[in-house]
Amino acid sequence: MTEKVALIGSGNWGSAVAKIVGRNVQNFPHFNKEVKMWVFEEQVDGQNLTDIINTKHENVKYLPGIKLPDNVIACSELKKTCDDATMLVFVVPHQFVAGVCEQLKGRISPNCKAISLIKGMDVQESGHGFRLISDMIQDSLGIRSCVLSGANIASEVAEERFCETTIGYRNLEDGELFKQIFHTPKFRVNIVDDVVGVELCGALKNIVAIGGGLVDGLKLGDNTKAAIIRIGLYEMRKFAQMFYKDVKDETFFESCGVADLITTCAGGRNRKVAEAHVTTGKSFDQLEQEMLNGQKLQGTSTAKDMFNILTKKGLCHEFPLMTVIYRICYEDLPPIRIVEDI
Ligand code: NAD
Ligand code: 13P
Repeated sequence: MTEKVALIGSGNWGSAVAKIVGRNVQNFPHFNKEVKMWVFEEQVDGQNLTDIINTKHENVKYLPGIKLPDNVIACSELKKTCDDATMLVFVVPHQFVAGVCEQLKGRISPNCKAISLIKGMDVQESGHGFRLISDMIQDSLGIRSCVLSGANIASEVAEERFCETTIGYRNLEDGELFKQIFHTPKFRVNIVDDVVGVELCGALKNIVAIGGGLVDGLKLGDNTKAAIIRIGLYEMRKFAQMFYKDVKDETFFESCGVADLITTCAGGRNRKVAEAHVTTGKSFDQLEQEMLNGQKLQGTSTAKDMFNILTKKGLCHEFPLMTVIYRICYEDLPPIRIVEDI
């Protein structure tokens, strides 16, 4: 059977993986050589971003300076992007997944497979719990979904600097198939039988990265930053295993665990904006607009999602770091409280 890959999303990470996937499908006979990539259409210097990508083979807004393979075709129509696909790669910021799934409902063939590269979670406003993004994809489209997450700052991956990543699978065959479209000598994929652990690592580390940025802004030094990373990792594991008993300890030693926490606390967008929150006193929303040129912060909204879950379950006291980060982001608590409250 010939597999056809579609990419749903074309931001900073979506464009970096488009480069890898576009190349890799050309290395195997069982992949269709065309990879369609859904672009949330916008104007850049008076032109459609899709037209720019299809002529310059570069996403000039979200990943400037990196050439994409010619077989990656940008498309502004979501349904058209996916209609003949057998492998869907979801890589939009988590706040947009619900809208994407709603548009695709009933249109995806049941033998299609998905993978989520999204770091975040879904919290139903009225509900008492939360849902994994990969479960949301599975529930709304009726297909299986793997997860890919790791220490993968998009610009470094796009420049082909060595790193690792983790694919969590529910079905080994799917894990191995998705590995073929992502693995390269410079982007080393390890597959593990713990889709929930991989996904929760990716979602929760963004909250800790906000903490890393706050201590940078406060100029508290490397020991404090290391303490935030350690406590963050501890709370991540505790939360994941409290809600999903099968999450494995080993997953936290994969690229998706401790490695992603370290890289995001050193060089990610969440860290950068949190540092600026301390040094400028501006709100996270304002700084996201000013500093990220359309890219989206995931850590603040995930801190809010997590705080809502902890509040409903009466668990805030068991997760002091995650709780104080939420309060600094949303309740104007002075940033220094990050070290006073933990
Ligand atoms: P991004 O933040 O760079 O870009 C935002 C994207 O959202 C743009 O493509 C924009 O067109 C799109 N968008 C804006 N409004 C929209 C709407 N209403 N509906 C749908 N799309 C809309 O995106 P990204 O960095 O590719 O992030 C995608 C996911 O990948 C996130 O969950 C992120 O945590 C994860 N991730 C990012 C990196 C990284 O280094 N950038 C690395 C690993 C994982
Ligand atoms: P930021 O969203 O903080 O840039 O993190 C990117 C990332 O997930 C690296 O693995």
